[in-house]
Amino acid sequence: MKFQSTRGHSPSVSFGTALAQGLAPDGGLYVPEQWPALGPAAFDGAATLPEVAEALIAPFAAGDPLAGEIRAIVREAFDFPAPVMPVARGGKLSVLELFHGPTAAFKDFGARFLAASLSRLRQGHAKPLNILVATSGDTGGAVAAAFHRRPGIEVSVLFPRGLVSPTQERQLTCWGDNVHSYRVSGTFDDCQRLVKEAFVDPGLIARYDLSSANSINLGRLLPQAVYYAATSLAIQRAYGVTPGFIIPSGNLGNSVACVWARKLGLPIGRIVLAHNANHTVPDYLRSGDWQPRASVPTLASAMDVGTPSNMERLRALFPDVGSMRDAVRAESVSDEEIRQRIAHDFRAYGKTWCPHTATAAEVFARMPQSERANARWVLVATAHPAKFREIVEPLTGQQIEMPESLAKLFTRPVSCADLSPELAALGGALGRPREQ
Ligand SMILES: *Cc1c(COP(=O)(O)O)cnc(C)c1O
Repeated sequence: MKFQSTRGHSPSVSFGTALAQGLAPDGGLYVPEQWPALGPAAFDGAATLPEVAEALIAPFAAGDPLAGEIRAIVREAFDFPAPVMPVARGGKLSVLELFHGPTAAFKDFGARFLAASLSRLRQGHAKPLNILVATSGDTGGAVAAAFHRRPGIEVSVLFPRGLVSPTQERQLTCWGDNVHSYRVSGTFDDCQRLVKEAFVDPGLIARYDLSSANSINLGRLLPQAVYYAATSLAIQRAYGVTPGFIIPSGNLGNSVACVWARKLGLPIGRIVLAHNANHTVPDYLRSGDWQPRASVPTLASAMDVGTPSNMERLRALFPDVGSMRDAVRAESVSDEEIRQRIAHDFRAYGKTWCPHTATAAEVFARMPQSERANARWVLVATAHPAKFREIVEPLTGQQIEMPESLAKLFTRPVSCADLSPELAALGGALGRPREQ
């Protein structure tokens, strides 16, 4: 199996190369050249998450040096559950909880799969792999946790000083060893610019093996298709119907994974994207005009994306707006609606949503009664509410219990260095001797 760039100007590559490169050399995103047929029968006998993951991912790794390792990789990466819980007793609405990993957000799935894969690919290399990540909060924590103490890999996490939540800053700075945290005096855009400049700087490229672990990496996307496969199969086996999914969306990595799962043949019905006030995608589906823009800050900050990168992958499947409208729907939810939904659903169902998950709950509540009643819908819960307790607790009036994994991070010592937003400063930091 080979992967081609969405821009069509780089050679096709195998699974492991796509993972190691992240972005294709022509600036495009890797997508599969063919789609294996993976209907429900392909998953006969696959009951656990690692078993479903192996059946889904192995065909993509066929012919690659990693092929023989997929079984071990998925057992290592999928070592926490993704339970599907009813929202109200006896009702048809359920919630897929993707927040039971080490940093309590769905990004743990992709980050852990990528870390398990890259550490195997790097075995036997003399130079370490230097992973650079710019983060506005959740991605950096998941990547740091997943790569911590992996031999042969050094991770540098860049985050904007004063612009991440206290819980997020803790998740970004509590690692040490091979994980180096940099507090950049600038914005998230400055962090991202620094990383992009590093990847094209001849001096740095010559000195270091650089790689990225951001959400456009194929190695983060494919494992996300796994929980959609497992959930849709479980619902089909139990009720004989194909569920629809409502997905809190920003850069569209999580939703493209769901679209891919359906394309492979999994029993998935409608897919609805719930955006915050950054409504580039809902606008496009309405008008047919693609108008990327700067992001605006919202309560669901991990979805504050004005120009979603994974749109290129959706376009590769649905080149015109008409076919994309047939494939997905998208809606926008305001901060005020997020607040009201969190308060309402806590009173009505005793459920506590994080601000991101609340956008999906709001989109469900807006649907006509007939649409809600006639299908099985799954809300995708992307983060644990404890990560955003400053926002959620005043709305529900209840203290949120910290999951154990998150509480553990607060007992670790913090280490972090300040960095000015210039490439020379980043180059200097990479060159400094690192404790091991
Ligand atoms: C990253 C993130 C999202 C958005 O996911 P995309 O794949 O970028 O669309 C939603 N919710 C949470 C909690 C996140 O961390």
